Amino acid sequence: MPRPIQAKVDLNALESNLYVARHATSSRIMAVIKANAYGHGLLRAAEALADADGFALLDMADAVRLREAGYRQTILLLEGVFDAQDMALAAEYDLACVIHSPWQIALLDAYPARGALDVWLKVNSGMTRLGFAPHELDGAMQALRRHKAVHEITLMTHFAHADEARGVTEQLDVFNELAADYRVTRSLANSAALLRHRFTHGDWVRPGIMLYGASPFADVTARQLGLRPVMTLESRIIAVQQLRAGDEIGYGALFRADRAMRVGVVACGYADGYPRHAPNGTPMQVDGQPSRLLGRVSMDMLYVDLSHLPGSGVGSVVTLWGEGVPIEEVAEAAGTISYELMCAVTARVPVIS
Ligand SMILES: *Cc1c(COP(=O)(O)O)cnc(C)c1O
Repeated sequence: MPRPIQAKVDLNALESNLYVARHATSSRIMAVIKANAYGHGLLRAAEALADADGFALLDMADAVRLREAGYRQTILLLEGVFDAQDMALAAEYDLACVIHSPWQIALLDAYPARGALDVWLKVNSGMTRLGFAPHELDGAMQALRRHKAVHEITLMTHFAHADEARGVTEQLDVFNELAADYRVTRSLANSAALLRHRFTHGDWVRPGIMLYGASPFADVTARQLGLRPVMTLESRIIAVQQLRAGDEIGYGALFRADRAMRVGVVACGYADGYPRHAPNGTPMQVDGQPSRLLGRVSMDMLYVDLSHLPGSGVGSVVTLWGEGVPIEEVAEAAGTISYELMCAVTARVPVIS
């Protein structure tokens, strides 16, 4: 029998979350499947999201795999191309490219075809990560319009606060003022903007996290948004320890029993992607019953409290996150966000659907 940990991916939930996005907008949907579809598996996720109008990712190899698997939709490279060789592949596989910096405009000369490249010109409206500054935008726009390789131009930006109280107003004002000068398609919204700021929808929305069933907001749950968890990380108890008052468990004795207790040792650790910084009390389930993490997470194992679950023992199923254990709650306890937990599941964890 293999080590019992697995990440179960619910493809019906993925498809259902795409429909939540559909109902929230009339814009075209660019499903963001970067980082191996947020850890869910690129081709598996693409199949469940086949109704999306486009796919956005970063790695050329993934874009090629997607095209070779038969997807005909727009495939957008979110960081654009990195060299002239990529430019040739973009032509061969009909990939759309973000253009975020002057050096990428120079690379357009390496595009081997005429008038066939769709570019997504990125403007920095306030996040200040990728994109041309507002005062550089017109120069970039004119260079793209003149360039013989370019077909359609989409103007895009990305929000820094769409999930927070500060919202999108400041960046949206900057973007709209710039965009007013051009007749181009527009794309601004990530999941948070799609769900909360309908004036940002433009022609293309770019949801990621919501498709995987997690809420982008700290103050609204996935369930309240109608989203279903897609990934459930689960394993089993492989040993049980009886503690007396005063016994300590694990590295650094992060937990000390103040009474007699029963704890289970679970086959899941930080080498599987479970966050090492999760504290005592981080939620999990044992055979569907609520319980909590105890002690420090080690490389391959962690402890779960079984004191209130006399029927549980070796072989009991432990849900680390997913169905019944919101990933946002685990992330919050560990001082991170659901995105990071999903992406952190390591290669040794079998992903099944
Ligand atoms: C990752 C990403 C998205 C999706 O963001 P979510 O918060 O996961 O919805 C959208 N646009 C860009 C440019 C991104 O990098």
